[in-house]
Amino acid sequence: MFKKLAILIVLVIIGLVGVIGYNTVMNTAPEKTGTAIASVKIDEMAAANRLAEAVRIKTISYSHDAPVEADAFDELHALIETSYPTVAEKLEKQVIGGYSLLYKWEGRDPDLPAAVLMGHLDVVPVEEGTEQNWEQPPFSGAIVNGAIWGRGTLDDKVSVFGLLEAAEYHLKAGLKPKQTIYLAFGHDEEIGGDHGAGKISKYLADQGVKVAYTLDEGMVVVNDIMPGVSQPIAFIALAEKGYLTVELTATAEGGHSSIPPRKTAVGKIARAIARIEDNRLPAALRRPVTDMFETLSPYMPLSLKAVISNRWLLDPVLVSQLGKGGATNAMVRTTTAATIIQGGTKDNVLPSTAKAVVNFRILPGSTVQGVIDHVTQVVDDPDVKIEIKQGNEPSKVSDHTSGSYRQIKRTIEEVLPDVLVSPGLMLAGSDSKHYEDLAENSYRFIPMRFGPDDLGRVHGTNERILIKNYGEIIRFYIRLMENTGN
Ligand SMILES: [Zn+2]
Repeated sequence: MFKKLAILIVLVIIGLVGVIGYNTVMNTAPEKTGTAIASVKIDEMAAANRLAEAVRIKTISYSHDAPVEADAFDELHALIETSYPTVAEKLEKQVIGGYSLLYKWEGRDPDLPAAVLMGHLDVVPVEEGTEQNWEQPPFSGAIVNGAIWGRGTLDDKVSVFGLLEAAEYHLKAGLKPKQTIYLAFGHDEEIGGDHGAGKISKYLADQGVKVAYTLDEGMVVVNDIMPGVSQPIAFIALAEKGYLTVELTATAEGGHSSIPPRKTAVGKIARAIARIEDNRLPAALRRPVTDMFETLSPYMPLSLKAVISNRWLLDPVLVSQLGKGGATNAMVRTTTAATIIQGGTKDNVLPSTAKAVVNFRILPGSTVQGVIDHVTQVVDDPDVKIEIKQGNEPSKVSDHTSGSYRQIKRTIEEVLPDVLVSPGLMLAGSDSKHYEDLAENSYRFIPMRFGPDDLGRVHGTNERILIKNYGEIIRFYIRLMENTGN
């Protein structure tokens, strides 16, 4: 009896090892669909100067309550008009929401659903007290050391001007794209995009426009972030996480601190935060993160490849490992970040209320209500009120097998032949969310090449882009306009 069991266990193990080995060996990289094309001749320096001029115009979004910097946006519109005369002459332009721009470029086949190529005209302010840390002033548009410096060079005047450069190039040469292309530039992405992208999307829907895909800012080309993968990886984000800010308010009896109650408002709010931090939302491997691992695993070291090729068995191992990292944790979990705490003004007075703010970034497949339910359950205190300050659901997950995705992928492979293309999950937000109902698919990618310190330049200090990379971005858009719809 005992011997039979032992034999059975050995057979099961051999079987498992066989299946794991088979799955691992069969997990090979697919053929590339695009091959390198000859580099298109463009005047990179002239293009750099046009972007630099745009950087000098302070189209800053401060906050929901602050008025729009109307003069700056008008000035930027005028600059676009004079910098891209053929675009101005040949494309149908609409100003939407006062300051956003929409251009229509009619395709050869108007029955095909359109492509909406996006960017945003606004930038974030420079944090007070950090101006002197910039190597070049933040709104100088200086061209120094082969780079264009200033706000908007990465986020996101780079894609607005890159797209306009590409459109101007083609319109001069007389290209008519196969599918209709819209260039859609919002003016308030940094404060949610409701009045810009939100209104453009509504306008298109009202016109009965069908949209095959949107391409917006989002992910970029990065090096050395996946174990064993030596090539740079171009991540096309198929989804973005949701956003939820929750305010907690604890109430207790106020009064003099010489005769305190057993539980104070400060103690209650501290306990609530501690409980929320101690009970994170559970980790889970879901699309598009699974798509990413499936795409990249053939290039990974054997051990990782074996785990990813055998997720039917080893999923819990993978999830728990990913959940331990920083960036990888954010890919598999709705993250929890306590960002503000307030309460009390005097050392000998008990405050009657204390407040805290917690920011969650919600994993696709989860919901705002699900997070609220979780918070309510773990805080478990009737004296702590839980309120939503701001919330939007995670996006849907777009298809990485669609014709549109394949066109974008092929374009990347043709223009940046050294990179691997993979689906990804965007951890921040973009204007794409406003096209959720309109577009069949939404992709988020700009071929910016990011080194280890470039992420910190976005919304941070020393934002700048190399002119050489800007040239690649323009060539990518030029090729995409040729490929799109084909
Ligand atoms: Zn942006």
